[in-house]
Amino acid sequence: MRLNGTMVPITCRAVVMDIEGTTSAARHVYDVLFPYARRQLPAWISDHGDEPVTAGAVREVADQLGVSIDEVDAVVEQLQSWIDQDVKAAPLKALQGLIWEQGYSQGALTSHMFDDVPPALHEWHSAGIPLVIYSSGSVAAQHALFANAEQGDLDAFIDDNFDITTAGPKREAHSYQRIAQQLGIPAPGLVFLSDVQAELDAASEAGWQTVGVLRAGEEQATVAQELRVASFTDLELRLG
Ligand SMILES: [Mg+2]
Repeated sequence: MRLNGTMVPITCRAVVMDIEGTTSAARHVYDVLFPYARRQLPAWISDHGDEPVTAGAVREVADQLGVSIDEVDAVVEQLQSWIDQDVKAAPLKALQGLIWEQGYSQGALTSHMFDDVPPALHEWHSAGIPLVIYSSGSVAAQHALFANAEQGDLDAFIDDNFDITTAGPKREAHSYQRIAQQLGIPAPGLVFLSDVQAELDAASEAGWQTVGVLRAGEEQATVAQELRVASFTDLELRLG
């Protein structure tokens, strides 16, 4: 890791990673995944409306709107407007996960990973460091994303996944406390990698180590802390 121009190793018992802006380009989400889900939503709901996850999501949106579940157009419109405004609503995340999964399995989608990510995951995994993902995208979407990377199937390297329904919001310390508890690892043994300072601050407040990821071209990144890397190549993780 670069700290004032030098490499600094981090000792940890597990590494927890954000996806968007950290392992994968944010533009992939906004330019590829969101528009794909937006286009596929009406057909998905009409083809899969009887299946439990889809039916549950439709019911949740309809309840929020105060309309009947038969008012599919209103439900679709609401979901699409959440996509447009990047609202992290649970029923939307659930449906997007299913739609992307189908897109990947049909070969219509592959996911972006920065080129330094696969070798780093391989190296850390080989060193016996558990690799954990914490992203606002649903756990199903996380599996699909890692399994369908441009560089091949990376999901096998991932030991655990958390999302906002299983852990809570990413800018709240309590979410990181919950993850530490679920992993059974004391906070100081965990290191969180993210491109968003508010998330790093929340993890830090929970007692975690944090490393900012500030990649070239990722304009949404808000990393302000000194401990940061521009690539996973600069990060030397040791199990301890
Ligand atoms: Mg991010």
